[in-house]
Amino acid sequence: MIRIRASSADLADKCPASQLRGATIEGRRIVHVDQRSPESAMGNAVHDLLAAHIDPSHRGVPEYSVVRASHGLPDIADDLEYLFEAGCKLFDARRDDFVDPMVEVPLITDGNAVRLVGRADVVSIVPPVVRIGDHKSGRVARDHSCQMKSYGKMALDYAPDCDTVESSIWWLRDGREERHTFSRYEIDMWFAQFEQRQVDNRGNYGPGPDCSWCSRRTGCDARREWIDEALSIVPRYEISMGTDPAVLAPLIAEWYDRKRAVEKELVEQSTRIREWIQENGPLPMGDDRMLDVQHSVNRAIDPLKAWDTLVDAFEGDYRSLAACIKIRNGKLQDEIMARTPTGEKKAVYLAVIGHLRAIGALTEDHGNISLRARKRKESDDSSRPALDAAD
Ligand code: SF4
Repeated sequence: MIRIRASSADLADKCPASQLRGATIEGRRIVHVDQRSPESAMGNAVHDLLAAHIDPSHRGVPEYSVVRASHGLPDIADDLEYLFEAGCKLFDARRDDFVDPMVEVPLITDGNAVRLVGRADVVSIVPPVVRIGDHKSGRVARDHSCQMKSYGKMALDYAPDCDTVESSIWWLRDGREERHTFSRYEIDMWFAQFEQRQVDNRGNYGPGPDCSWCSRRTGCDARREWIDEALSIVPRYEISMGTDPAVLAPLIAEWYDRKRAVEKELVEQSTRIREWIQENGPLPMGDDRMLDVQHSVNRAIDPLKAWDTLVDAFEGDYRSLAACIKIRNGKLQDEIMARTPTGEKKAVYLAVIGHLRAIGALTEDHGNISLRARKRKESDDSSRPALDAAD
């Protein structure tokens, strides 16, 4: 039986070999690295606080300092409070749907060849729907579709009276909810295919940007080769200004993947160097310079709590105060959507934007065109003009 954690399901889907453990490959022992990091400690601390907030049977939310201490975090101003408050807000907006919520629910399901295991942050069962909530505290939004389907598979087995699973990913840093709904049939079809791929491709490597989440990454030759190739980022392809865009598009996508790999590798290696210097002192750089660490403080100001103090400090000069504040349109949109009844959301948002435009409070740049990959639709016309015709 191949054991796969729901949180590793996306990685397993891309690289089945990532799930090999305790074995040898071509005579080499598979080494797993400790995945604990300050970011994961912060994530665990936030999860503890949110579990206490959500669980109706819990006797209150513990002090921040107690939670920091229990996760080995320094007791200083950090993201904990902000992430916890964002998580509370996201859950409270859905509290009516998550009836009798259960927190930190251990789940397990056996297929023919794959055993799924995991711990869902929040589960609520109201037949015919089982709801799952998952808090994400990381900075990078990734595709978690296999993880959420894995939870869905396990939750539907846990709740046999249900035939639909609704999963919510709560992105704490953005204050945003991502929601997916699957029928039992869709989940079973997905699991059958996922399981078959794991069996058919057992031991096959699929290196890519997601390697940075893999516990095997430090000793993996497939990743090493992929990084080596990514480092030669300037192409081995013949590209000129006349290259057909249809040929160019997949190459550009590959370059972006390679660029992400190089950036991740730089971050990872820089972290190693920083930790080494913190322990052992500055490192010579090969010229007359030394590489040392520099301590800096990131400050975030809560506008609501800071408001009166800042008004006092600016002696009521709101014009100067306004220049210090940036209102993020995406966040504004999320907030309006969250507080407006279904069916009125878009109209209310557009009315607010229209009013801001009318009073001259809005700057709009329509010249911003970017590339975005989306799924092909049947309506997409495959016949396109040749590059020459466009010239
Ligand atoms: S490091 Fe990458 S290629 Fe190697 S096993 Fe992990 S996911 Fe697969």
